[in-house]
Amino acid sequence: MSRFFSDRYATLVPYVPGEQPQDRRYLKLNTNESPFPPSDGVLAAVNEEGGRLNLYSDPDARALRSRLADSFGVAPDRVIVSNGSDEVLNFAFMAFASEKTPLVFPDITYGFYPVFAELNRLPYTEIPVRDDLSIDPADYIGKGKKTVVIANPNAPTGLFLPLSEIEKIVSGNPDGVVIVDEAYVDFGGESAVPLTAKYDNLLVVGTYSKSRSMAGARLGFGIGNPDLIRDLNTIRNSTNPYNVNRMTLAAGVAALEDDAYYRANCKKIEAAREWTAKKLTALGFTVIPSKANFLFAKTPAIGGEALYLALKERGILIRHFNKPRISDFNRITVGTQEQMETLVAAIETILKEQGGLK
Ligand code: PMP
Repeated sequence: MSRFFSDRYATLVPYVPGEQPQDRRYLKLNTNESPFPPSDGVLAAVNEEGGRLNLYSDPDARALRSRLADSFGVAPDRVIVSNGSDEVLNFAFMAFASEKTPLVFPDITYGFYPVFAELNRLPYTEIPVRDDLSIDPADYIGKGKKTVVIANPNAPTGLFLPLSEIEKIVSGNPDGVVIVDEAYVDFGGESAVPLTAKYDNLLVVGTYSKSRSMAGARLGFGIGNPDLIRDLNTIRNSTNPYNVNRMTLAAGVAALEDDAYYRANCKKIEAAREWTAKKLTALGFTVIPSKANFLFAKTPAIGGEALYLALKERGILIRHFNKPRISDFNRITVGTQEQMETLVAAIETILKEQGGLK
């Protein structure tokens, strides 16, 4: 810390993103990226738009918002786009949470929520998930003016709450905003976007980073009542009106045109996920049932961190969280079937070496 760093942030502990090592080529199963490249249409759109980088991007993102609105069956004034969904989450925390409307989210969830809360000096409560790591929806009903944040499917567990439970949470908090983070919804979950027509306190957040193979382009979105979107735009326009660059805006439109390609990829990932879950279970792992593009798993044969390190030595990266309640687990991104076969073979070898597999 320099002697000039504001005391407002002196105690801030930043979010630690998953490793993105540049030293060697790893099989990357640690940050929930798609193993599939962007579609040809996206590549062509990026190439074409690159020639116009001398001009600012559309601060209202009209083309993309209108196309996204069509694909979700909502009006464009219900859509905001952002530089990754992290950005719209931060905007939402800034816009809706305060001393009078504190945040509530599970103790086991996306690690950026407490960081955004700390950054913006917002009070928050973490509600413990059950012993099986599931969220009890009843814990989030009747919270008054509190701002509820739920990732659905949750991360890093992959557990999914049915839409009926999400609706109970939204209808059970008419005086507070409920933010539903659907980063992983396209791998077998069900989106709450249709509920935004009925509830003015629901903000659904989505991303192109996972199911649409665009983590490196940084594109996220929020969908909700036009008044909520207007508030988010007040924050956005006070921060960075050109928050999404030209190439990413164009890629975002093109990806929606190539929806069939991305849907097919999601199905492949779901199939590889189920195959991997079965294999790991047969090897003695406890595997949390996942509706996301990752699995959360542990085994009594080897500690979470030890397995993470042993795989890293073999050139395979997975994610270990050194956090109470979940330090025995690892989060494994689901890649292609072939990648998952490589992973399972490496785990088998490690377990044999450890004497954990006879
Ligand atoms: N929400 C959740 C639950 C996530 O796991 C992630 C990915 N780290 C994000 C949001 C943010 O993703 P992005 O900013 O790439 O859209």
